[in-house]
Amino acid sequence: MKIKAARFLLPIAFATLAWPQLPKIKPGFNLFSKQQDIQLGREAAAEIRKKVKIVHNRDLENYVRGIGQKLAAQPEAGDYPYSFEVVDDKSINAFALPGGPTFVYTGLLLAAEDDAQVAGVLAHEIAHVALRHGTNQASKANLIQLPAMIAGGLLGGGSMLGQLARLGIGLGANSVLLKFSRTAESQADQLGAEIMAGAGYNPIELARFFEKLEAQTGKGSALSQFLSDHPNPGNRVQAVENVIRFLPKRQYITQTSDLVKMQAIIRGLPAAAAAPSNASKENGLSRANSVEAPTLPPATSFREYRGQKFTISYPSNWQAYGDSQSNMVTLAPEQGLVQGAIGYGAIVSYYLPGSNGVDLKRDTRALVSELESKNHGMRVANASRRFTAGGVPGLLTELTSESPYANETEVDLLITVARPEGLFYVVLVVPRSQYRNSQPVFQRMLESVRFS
Ligand SMILES: [Zn+2]
Repeated sequence: MKIKAARFLLPIAFATLAWPQLPKIKPGFNLFSKQQDIQLGREAAAEIRKKVKIVHNRDLENYVRGIGQKLAAQPEAGDYPYSFEVVDDKSINAFALPGGPTFVYTGLLLAAEDDAQVAGVLAHEIAHVALRHGTNQASKANLIQLPAMIAGGLLGGGSMLGQLARLGIGLGANSVLLKFSRTAESQADQLGAEIMAGAGYNPIELARFFEKLEAQTGKGSALSQFLSDHPNPGNRVQAVENVIRFLPKRQYITQTSDLVKMQAIIRGLPAAAAAPSNASKENGLSRANSVEAPTLPPATSFREYRGQKFTISYPSNWQAYGDSQSNMVTLAPEQGLVQGAIGYGAIVSYYLPGSNGVDLKRDTRALVSELESKNHGMRVANASRRFTAGGVPGLLTELTSESPYANETEVDLLITVARPEGLFYVVLVVPRSQYRNSQPVFQRMLESVRFS
């Protein structure tokens, strides 16, 4: 018996001897699909190119692209269509748009000490793209309006950027797409360090360069945008040293840097006319409530929407706006989408608040307070009560908010169900004047929910 027990223990002993693994960082909650990240980034890059002066110098372009592509080829970078362009601007800045377009300013290339530091900034930016931080932040900030926005964009075939501008999401200063939280920063440092190491650059240079820039902030404003977009999560060098301990030991590139040559080229560029910095684009179109709430014809027939993990029926004279790759759909009559907001219809999606499993009451509370804080004027009208959807017990919470229709308030019925993949939720949105009429339709929709 003793021998058997010893044998049984052996694999466990081996397991503890194995190389320790870094905790894997995964992209967080997101209402956009990867394809929509790419589309948004493409549109935004086209806007940026109108506002900044792109350097057309073959040596300089090849240099930045060469480092960038080596990093982008690492598995941690994901399979986004990365591109790397140099902006003729002496500000110390760099940024990446969702889906991969990356811009590096000549000022940053002048401030770096060697190739590894340039690689450090690029790897950090690539990590933001791979972790989808921009659209993750935009999703969290616009849980209700965004699904309708995305639906509206698909509906009109119009630009995504134009749709997002109506929510105040643009490319200007403090944009949620470009200004990151400290949590996002430490994630980008870790993943960036892994990407660098894979490409043969010493990851510690990432942290050193950020700290060097931090130390220079007092010396003028050429830096402020970059450091406010990438706030210091604290102890960058120590954090990256921690990551390095998990990485296989290896020899890093020590060849003499090409950077010095590039800096000479930059100094020889014809003086750039002062370009507007970082494409400051003001948006925030005013939302005039001039559209009257529609009285919809009664729904006589229904059809089924099949999501990846759920099905739900909706009136045949409504549309389903969704992307088969993302776990959400907006179901609405055409008149239900008003100036990029949803005024009438339903949003079906998942909320993924954390990594501690799903808890119906706790996560419903978290979702409700997120909705209240992010939607002007939204508040709970009736506390959560038990409700069954798809044969599974859930909660029904009645909220009220401003309506995009003229002279209306809005009723938002939130139904939440705990599922293994996250908190499944449906928000039924209706102008108060239509609330009573809409009950049979909404009831039928909720009764039709099935989980697969
Ligand atoms: Zn960052």
